[in-house]
Amino acid sequence: ETGRLLFAGPVTFVKGVVAMSGLPPADRLEVCFAGRSNVGKSSLINALTGRKTLARASNTPGRTQEINYFALGEERYLVDLPGYGFAEAPVAIVAKWQALLKQYLSGRATLRRAFVLIDARHGVKAVDEEILTLLDRSAVTFQVVLTKVDKINRSERAAVIEQVKGALVKHPAAYPEIVVTSSEKGEGIETLRALIATLE
Ligand code: GDP
Repeated sequence: ETGRLLFAGPVTFVKGVVAMSGLPPADRLEVCFAGRSNVGKSSLINALTGRKTLARASNTPGRTQEINYFALGEERYLVDLPGYGFAEAPVAIVAKWQALLKQYLSGRATLRRAFVLIDARHGVKAVDEEILTLLDRSAVTFQVVLTKVDKINRSERAAVIEQVKGALVKHPAAYPEIVVTSSEKGEGIETLRALIATLE
């Protein structure tokens, strides 16, 4: 019911933010989405919001990386963090981005949860560990969302869930429940929606 309410209002793009001073007023709860580039973040956000063209898959290396704010009705912000893990991204841009990310994660009082997207075919990798550690240090509760689960079979699914659970043990900020999703098939989307809607 709350999920329906959440998306009853229009889902709109608010703004792209490149500095803390650009953040919209902290007048509602928000969740953020993080994940290595190509993990399926844009597809998931589009599935979640029921919009086709909302999240742009445009995290080109070297491009100015923005924190994109979307309003889910008037109740929540959905915050799309730039994809990480570009081997070829210029050092200066990576450093600038990391500084903003740290400031955002530690300084945003209305941030309730980070959803960290992990490709179901790959599990948690070293590059993901970096953000998980940053979330621990920032005391931001995070929840792992497995993406593209339609690409793996049942036994692979069980195996990756075990791998992720094993990786989460050493992260105090981890929320233990893993959300399994497929933007392609719609699996897990309603669960994720309800999670966002019911955060307090
Ligand atoms: P982003 O870089 O994290 O925003 O990733 P995208 O959403 O652009 O997705 C990267 C690629 O994975 C695209 O080719 C998508 O079509 C594909 N993809 C994303 N989600 C799914 C999914 O649930 N299932 C399948 N089979 N492919 C997906």
